[in-house]
Amino acid sequence: MSTTTDARTLDNYVGGAWTPAQGAETLAVTNPATGALLAHVPLSGGADVDAAVAAARAALPAWRDVNVIERARRLFTLREQLVARREDLARSVTTEMGKTLVDARAEVGRAIEMVEAATAIPTTMQGRILEDISRGIDAETIRQPVGVCAAIAPFNFPMMVPFWFLPFAIGCGNTFVLKPSEQVPLTQQIVFEILHELELPPGVVNLVNGGREVVEALLDHDGVDAISFVGSAPVAKLVYERAARNGKRVQALGGAKNHMVVMPDAVIDKTVSGLIGSAFGAAGQRCMAGSVVVTVGEAHDRLLERLAAATRALTVGDGIDAASDVGPVVSCAARDRIADWIDRAVADGATVVVDGRGGLDGLPAGGAFVGPTILTDVTPEMAIAQEEVFGPVLAIVRAQSLEEAIGIVNRSRFGNGTSIFTESAPAVRRYRHDVQAGMIGVNISVAAPVAFFPFSGWKDSFFGDLHAHGPDAVEFYTRKKTVTSRYFGSGQGTGAYFVEQ
Ligand code: NAD
Repeated sequence: MSTTTDARTLDNYVGGAWTPAQGAETLAVTNPATGALLAHVPLSGGADVDAAVAAARAALPAWRDVNVIERARRLFTLREQLVARREDLARSVTTEMGKTLVDARAEVGRAIEMVEAATAIPTTMQGRILEDISRGIDAETIRQPVGVCAAIAPFNFPMMVPFWFLPFAIGCGNTFVLKPSEQVPLTQQIVFEILHELELPPGVVNLVNGGREVVEALLDHDGVDAISFVGSAPVAKLVYERAARNGKRVQALGGAKNHMVVMPDAVIDKTVSGLIGSAFGAAGQRCMAGSVVVTVGEAHDRLLERLAAATRALTVGDGIDAASDVGPVVSCAARDRIADWIDRAVADGATVVVDGRGGLDGLPAGGAFVGPTILTDVTPEMAIAQEEVFGPVLAIVRAQSLEEAIGIVNRSRFGNGTSIFTESAPAVRRYRHDVQAGMIGVNISVAAPVAFFPFSGWKDSFFGDLHAHGPDAVEFYTRKKTVTSRYFGSGQGTGAYFVEQ
């Protein structure tokens, strides 16, 4: 384990070349399982953002003119390169973020799937045309790129979240600036090595490392046309407001508190493994993690013992170790914050059924470990049932009916994802109809839509209109232009236009 200070300082990638940040301070990037120093990340400033945006603007006219089929072919090549580096990418995710290698491989798989969806751009970017809106007059809507598009990513998906945006943005003919999370900047270094080999025109894709200062410079920059943000709810709201005030197109995906409703007729063994995967996978650090179980009626007694036993059987350890079911959380600061949340829940009246604050002997002292935790006697009003903890902490709330359960779910200020576990079609129909959330699972515990469908929540989980990926990506990354035309020489263009029909 290296704890020396000789780890490399990461570069930005601007205008087709690796470029040091200008006079920036740096932050240490560490492996959360061991505390080992991995690299130093620069906290870039306004001058670095200026350089990246200038490169992206300069690249725009020529990239837009590369024909759309050729742009799609570059994405096919990108896919092949990502597949070839799949294991390196997954190991990088685990090393810098902590999730298990199995989970990291799935994350890389989802990123590749985004590229696959984006290769359909020559079809999905098509406009529409209607002949003879008046005699000899046609109307057509075409789609053109928006311009320079920037994306700002959170720590919990170092690989996937940037790919919710990058392939769709450049596929539609935009140029792109990425700011990864300063906590996990290493995986995108590998991605940009791959992009470099694609020989895209310089400036089509750019990488600026850093934190808040980079975000604010992007939000205020006249040269940036669109902003995609993924992160916590308070920052998502700030980003949405500031980008909109500056006249930019913006989508800002925020935090979550996802409820999983278990009906009395749920298939309990399958439900237990689903709940565990959702609550404790990635140590609870997914925006789609289920963090509140709402048991309906007798489901509570059928579920609790088995859920607690299966949770106690989980192995906590370094995510790179195949024996680990649950890796560390992202940092020691996050670990301590999560332990404080458990203490507070107990002070508020919750009962700890499985306690992740202890029993972690034998794990590296510098590791950011907190074990899976289950709390009962939780009421919907308690902070632990309302606020995002973003750790492996599962609160169990009781309801007597589906109607009461839906009321509990809908009182949350968040509305990202939610799941129901039941074999009853009428219950599902009712749930799907009434629940206020953007993504719903039926006997699926992490109902994150695949790349070909849109991804986003409602309420404080999302600020904007167009969701991430799926058909919404093409809507977000293109501007529509409608042309009304006639030709007198055709002998048909004699119809009246803009007069009473
Ligand atoms: P975060 O909000 O702390 O940071 C996200 C990004 O914003 C980072 O790149 C960071 O550098 C930047 N940032 C942080 N504070 C800022 C500020 N004050 N001004 C401007 N920029 C700022 O989020 P995080 O801790 O990295 O990620 C976890 C959060 O992201 C959780 O709340 C999780 O639910 C959410 N998330 C949501 C989704 C979704 O699809 N809705 C997906 C993944 C993660």
